[in-house]
Amino acid sequence: METLDRIPLRIGLEEVRAELGNGDRDLVQRLLDKETSWIRPRAAYGVCRVTGKYDRAAVVDGVLLKSRVLAHHLKNGMRVFPFVVTIGRGLESRADATKELPARSCLHTIGNLALNKARRYLKNYLKKHSAHARLSHLSPGSLKDWPLEAQRPLFSILKGAERAIGVQLTHRLLMNPTKSVSGIFFPTETPFESCQLCPRDPCQGRRAPHNADLVKKYGIDSL
Ligand code: SF4
Repeated sequence: METLDRIPLRIGLEEVRAELGNGDRDLVQRLLDKETSWIRPRAAYGVCRVTGKYDRAAVVDGVLLKSRVLAHHLKNGMRVFPFVVTIGRGLESRADATKELPARSCLHTIGNLALNKARRYLKNYLKKHSAHARLSHLSPGSLKDWPLEAQRPLFSILKGAERAIGVQLTHRLLMNPTKSVSGIFFPTETPFESCQLCPRDPCQGRRAPHNADLVKKYGIDSL
């Protein structure tokens, strides 16, 4: 397993304000100045091979991943990248210790933005170092097709994640620190986002419109 220990991040005032729906400029700036040093963005990832392929599952480094979406995208011999990204516990602890609600909410927003940026950094890093022009990803729990239970096989591939970057899988299949994200990057010819298959509406984090035809194509409309 590989790690990125120092992911560089820049979080801008206006992007935090936009996430907060035009948040208080002075508050956001004060928290950015004072609190972002608590963010510790790190990643652990594997460079793995698809070693088996079925209609509704794929095998990665000998571990069965049950998902029609992954079965659709992954091909035998393909190189894929299971990953965990975290920003650590620091900012979250600061947010939890903050009594002032707007400041707490702002700190959580800054943390979520930082986590998304760290995941994007890893994606771009992998693209650059693997010579894949396009990578898409799927995360456990983002679709019924790959529910939270998929954390177990994923973490069995990423065995050293806790030691390497301090991310632990709890018995409830959540991650500690909570500002962490896991998943698998895989090469695709056309961009894929789990949001295309997800009916949640409204969703503030939506990255692509829902596509009913694609839902049928993947055969996940019957789930
Ligand atoms: S639409 Fe929202 S809930 Fe659904 S996959 Fe996208 S971000 Fe997640």
